[in-house]
Amino acid sequence: MIKFNVPPYAEKAADYIKECVENQKICGDGAYTRKCNEWIEAKTGTAKCLLTTSCTHATEMAALLADIKEGDEVIMPAYTFVSTANAFVLRGAIPVFVDIRPDTMNMDETLIEAAITEKTKAIAPVHYAGVACEMDTIMAIAKKHNLVVIEDAAQGIMSTYKGKALGTIGDYGCFSFHETKNYSMGEGGALLIRDEKNVEAAEIIREKGTNRSKYYRGQIDKYTWVDYGSSYLPSDMNAAYLYAQLEIAEEINEWRLNCWKRYYENLLPLKEAGKIELPIVPQHCEHNAHMFYIKAKDIEERTALIEHLAYNEILSVFHYIPLHTSPAGQKFGRFHGEDRYTTRESERLARLPMYYGLTIEQVDYICDAVKSFYA
Ligand SMILES: *Cc1c(COP(=O)(O)O)cnc(C)c1O
Repeated sequence: MIKFNVPPYAEKAADYIKECVENQKICGDGAYTRKCNEWIEAKTGTAKCLLTTSCTHATEMAALLADIKEGDEVIMPAYTFVSTANAFVLRGAIPVFVDIRPDTMNMDETLIEAAITEKTKAIAPVHYAGVACEMDTIMAIAKKHNLVVIEDAAQGIMSTYKGKALGTIGDYGCFSFHETKNYSMGEGGALLIRDEKNVEAAEIIREKGTNRSKYYRGQIDKYTWVDYGSSYLPSDMNAAYLYAQLEIAEEINEWRLNCWKRYYENLLPLKEAGKIELPIVPQHCEHNAHMFYIKAKDIEERTALIEHLAYNEILSVFHYIPLHTSPAGQKFGRFHGEDRYTTRESERLARLPMYYGLTIEQVDYICDAVKSFYA
């Protein structure tokens, strides 16, 4: 059976975790958390990275930092994971869903401006499959209407838009290190903060509303409760697991990209024959091979394809049920405009196995199975 995902693992992780255990350094903000933060800062060029317990929590932090309040509106794609919306719903805000582009499955940037009202406070673009949204357009709209931009870059570490790392373009960026992502710590994430001026508030929110981070740096001699906050910092053991992968981040990225390219080349004849569609990566976007998906004709064909692959011992899955059609999406949010692509395109999409360790032979075998389905 070829699994759909295998959690990424780098050999050094076991030693690093052992070191945490033996040194009795297991709580948050230890040496490995710092190393991960610094690695991400150096790699992406963000002013500050704070490791968190999840991408969901990083987005919740961003919603607090952006001072999202009851009745505020946040514009986001209808095709995304629930956390993009939940982080704002928890603050009493209303997610306003817009349609996606059929080529990248990202929010259609040309539909954002029409969805803006006097209640709009933020835009939350999601970089689907690690392929960037049209950030120049989104940032220009945000500037014109004085909106905060919170990038859901859960899938976007190592990807760029016009040379800029995803997660560093908006005011805040959120990474995920869940086990289904390119780099993992089991459960975990990171908040990227573009502007130095927002760092202190973020440190306070992450440390239960205290100025403990300043205390740890020796900048004050006792710490106290200074604002609202929660606990968003992961154990250093989780950070140790992640850091081992960051040390070989290029190797992991190359591995995935090689699999991705092999899928693409192998399946290109099927696309050219008009049987399936393949992912589209715009010229100015460098991606991280987070995902390889194909699009079938419609939902019936996709269901049959997934069954055919399962019969051949290959696990493939589909993705998000559009949020505006879900019970909570209908309760908390609204869709602005027309659903031309979100439902239709999401129903055609099937994700093929993709992970660090998947072999070229396996990719070839999977492609043969896809071809035999369409033969
Ligand atoms: C995985 C994912 C999340 C959630 O990440 P967690 O770290 O599990 O909280 C949020 N948004 C998107 C687009 C994701 O793919």
